[in-house]
Amino acid sequence: MKKPKRSHRKGKPQERKKPELLAAVVANEKGEIFDLEDFAAVGADGPLLSPLTTGGTIDLPYGSELMFLPDRMPVLMDLETGQVRPVDRNPYSPGERIFPVAVFNSPGVVLACTCAYKERPGTQILPLFSYGAVGWHRDGFRSAAIVVDREPRQDLRRMPRDKIVSGVKHMQTQLPDNRLARHLEHCALTYGCPAGKNFFLGRYEAPLPTSQACNARCLGCISLQHDAHLTSSQNRIAFTPSAEEIADVALAHIRRVKNSVVSFGQGCEGDPLMAARVIGPAITLIRSKTEDGTINMNTNASLPGVLGPLLDAGLDSIRVSMNSVREACYTAYFRPKGYRFSQVVESIDLAISRSKHVAINYLNCPGFTDSPEETAALSVFLEKHPVHLIQWRNLNFDPKRYLQIMNKVTPLGPPVGMDRLLQMIRKRFPNLQYGYFNPPKERFMPFLPAVQKDITP
Ligand code: SF4
Repeated sequence: MKKPKRSHRKGKPQERKKPELLAAVVANEKGEIFDLEDFAAVGADGPLLSPLTTGGTIDLPYGSELMFLPDRMPVLMDLETGQVRPVDRNPYSPGERIFPVAVFNSPGVVLACTCAYKERPGTQILPLFSYGAVGWHRDGFRSAAIVVDREPRQDLRRMPRDKIVSGVKHMQTQLPDNRLARHLEHCALTYGCPAGKNFFLGRYEAPLPTSQACNARCLGCISLQHDAHLTSSQNRIAFTPSAEEIADVALAHIRRVKNSVVSFGQGCEGDPLMAARVIGPAITLIRSKTEDGTINMNTNASLPGVLGPLLDAGLDSIRVSMNSVREACYTAYFRPKGYRFSQVVESIDLAISRSKHVAINYLNCPGFTDSPEETAALSVFLEKHPVHLIQWRNLNFDPKRYLQIMNKVTPLGPPVGMDRLLQMIRKRFPNLQYGYFNPPKERFMPFLPAVQKDITP
């Protein structure tokens, strides 16, 4: 239906509202968060620092968390001088130290800017979260982020605890002796894992964590940390479920959820390809009972020889994690053991050649992902390897430390801007989907040629 024309006084065109600056948001030593008058909020896109405006931000997504960053001072814009500078003390409460406030956005958005701050001497690395820029406007917080998926799959308002608890009880009667179901209870009730909760709520996507091992050592691994200054946010699964246990959990979900997805490769495990010996038979078991549901694997795709038989057994889609499409940058973050980036690419080509749905879990950090070098490389990569979907995700790692590491690998040019990057790639690859979640096969786009030859960015 054509949008009704808004009526306005004859002859006077509707004026576009001028973007307004956001007020700076900081915290004091006690962690109390407040806005600082006469200072505007600033976002960082790598070395580029720019004031946040209503035009470049969105209302803070529900369920997002504000974080106080210790041992750092906020970088703000002084409205009197127009200068962007670090501010150490509260100008309205002499002597009071102030600290930056960042936002850990809820799922569905990708960061346009990270929080702008200056490290104080002796600063420790930040814990494993993403640190988005945030400001205050009129009656609410606004986040420097771009919406890439509006699906309420992990919307906490749709996940009431009492329903989760009754779902757990229900599964205790359905799957009384299933260790994997018991493990997922812990994920849902203790870790608060949205995928675990969705299994007990009978919504969207259920997790099938299986693997205790991984052949990568990601700097930001959330299930097993090698860095003494970092803590993994959840423990790795401590057993390998049997093919029957996996299949029963999957079938319990598929039988009660329309357009359901069941996924190997969760935050509480290593890489599922390392557990192919049980995953292969589990997929065969599931497909021997039903063609319904989408069987997906979130993986580092490091072993094409192991992936092939799983695709043949009935795996419908894969989501391949990468922080970069350039080998040197990938290797610096994933620190692969016994495989190379070329094997990851080989797995992607293999799955595409088998008409399976392929998504990239693109771990974004403004300043790196939108660097001209990564932007150009991504365009070339997508032309050669026409994946179907980019899940624009936020890298959960200290942004300053990450950019330092990547800059050592290869110098980063001035960022083009995340919004511009998304527009350029969208224009260049009109058939490429953007999102945040693993789609069910009912929503797989028909496999069309990714590139439109005649459009230059
Ligand atoms: S691929 Fe996954 S499990 Fe393996 S090290 Fe990286 S984040 Fe951890």
